[in-house]
Amino acid sequence: MKELFKQIPSVDELLSKSEIKSLVEKFGHFLVKDSVRKSIAKVREEIKSGNLKDKIPERVLNLIPEVLKREVEPSLKRVINGTGIIIHTNLGRAVISENVMDYVKSIATTYNNLEYDLKDGKRGHRDSHAERLLSKYFNVESATVVNNNAAAVMLIINTFAEGKEVVVSRGELIEIGGSFRIPEIMKKAGAKLVEVGTTNKTHLKDYAEAINENTGLVLKVHPSNYRITGFTKSVPAKDIADLCKEKGVPFAEDMGSGNIYDLKGLGIYDEPTVKESVEAGIDLISFSGDKLLGCVQSGIIIGKKKYIEKIRKNHLLRALRVDKITYSAIEKHMELLLRERYSEIPVYNMIFKEAEEIKREIEGFISGLDCDTSGLEIIETKSKIGGGTTPEREIGSFGLAFNLKENPEKIEQYFRSREIPVIGRIKNDTFFIDFRTILEKDIPVLKDYVCKLLSSQV
Ligand SMILES: *Cc1c(COP(=O)(O)O)cnc(C)c1O
Repeated sequence: MKELFKQIPSVDELLSKSEIKSLVEKFGHFLVKDSVRKSIAKVREEIKSGNLKDKIPERVLNLIPEVLKREVEPSLKRVINGTGIIIHTNLGRAVISENVMDYVKSIATTYNNLEYDLKDGKRGHRDSHAERLLSKYFNVESATVVNNNAAAVMLIINTFAEGKEVVVSRGELIEIGGSFRIPEIMKKAGAKLVEVGTTNKTHLKDYAEAINENTGLVLKVHPSNYRITGFTKSVPAKDIADLCKEKGVPFAEDMGSGNIYDLKGLGIYDEPTVKESVEAGIDLISFSGDKLLGCVQSGIIIGKKKYIEKIRKNHLLRALRVDKITYSAIEKHMELLLRERYSEIPVYNMIFKEAEEIKREIEGFISGLDCDTSGLEIIETKSKIGGGTTPEREIGSFGLAFNLKENPEKIEQYFRSREIPVIGRIKNDTFFIDFRTILEKDIPVLKDYVCKLLSSQV
């Protein structure tokens, strides 16, 4: 073993080699030296464990670029979503429009008027940017944007109910994934939670009895990823809005997904739209920018001007503010929506794509493969919108199933470990890729991976 250790080249020796010198040109001295050291350490381990007995210098030299690649590679990378879940929080939520991102690039890679009033040549307010287009689209007086919807809810509660009470229906005291729990947010915002009604039923008089001089806010929360069914009653938003107006208490709604589309054609009747909440007379409505709206991570607050003005005066806003990337994305996205350019919005396209069209796409995919396609099958599947929308509602779709000799877990592992990982699903002991969430640019990559699997060059 001592003899083997002696064959390991020194750091200086390695650094003077031409192939390592060319790596230094590409990656810089610091990273290359670091990777040389790590490669030597790894080879020492391999010798110690008895796994390496010859060709020691070659092994070190081969390791260096591999280690280097791992060191600099970003951990956040592209994946192909074959789950059929459109707003998949684990896979980055909404896919953003190319058109929107082109605009973001043009703003973020130059100077811009983020906080500059071009008319007066003086300092301006960043918050003025998204306000105009958001207000126009949602038909409200005012709007503001923060880091995400959790921040928006916290900011609203803190602004109107710090040291005061917030009235919430027991049926809406939810926890959504990623540790967002209404009672905890309430505590952090410095407000006292007042629960009204029961888990399954809340009446208008429950709200009326709970509102007193200590009430800072009445809050309605969209139950997102769960539904209470059966013997239930919740109070229509309009009735609560009328009650709050009469009592002089602001009324806010956490809408979560921020649905802007009429989903009834898909058989989804219990997903209210933002516009419906606006029409009900709710004072402040907040929702995520990267769920059904289909844009960047953000928390959008829309509603009455006098309340938004109060939020703007809260110093907490400074800690939750967003940057030029978010503002420019939201402005361009809202412009697309106002111009009714829905076909440029990936989330819209995925939700409303007909199942038959997806089936035809898979047929085209299979006939375009340059390999023996036996073992492939087109199956009926169920896609989901996701992102806390309509948990039990599914949209009919089609998937590409793999009926191969390998067990489905192995196929799943094969796709997940590709350079561009493909995430699919296993059902009835079969691995499949739901094509509702496959993007046009995914197709060539997927074709390559599928053929490599079928011809077993795995
Ligand atoms: C998703 C969701 C949130 C959190 O929104 P983020 O943008 O992820 O912070 C809050 N409330 C409800 C009801 C939600 O569905």
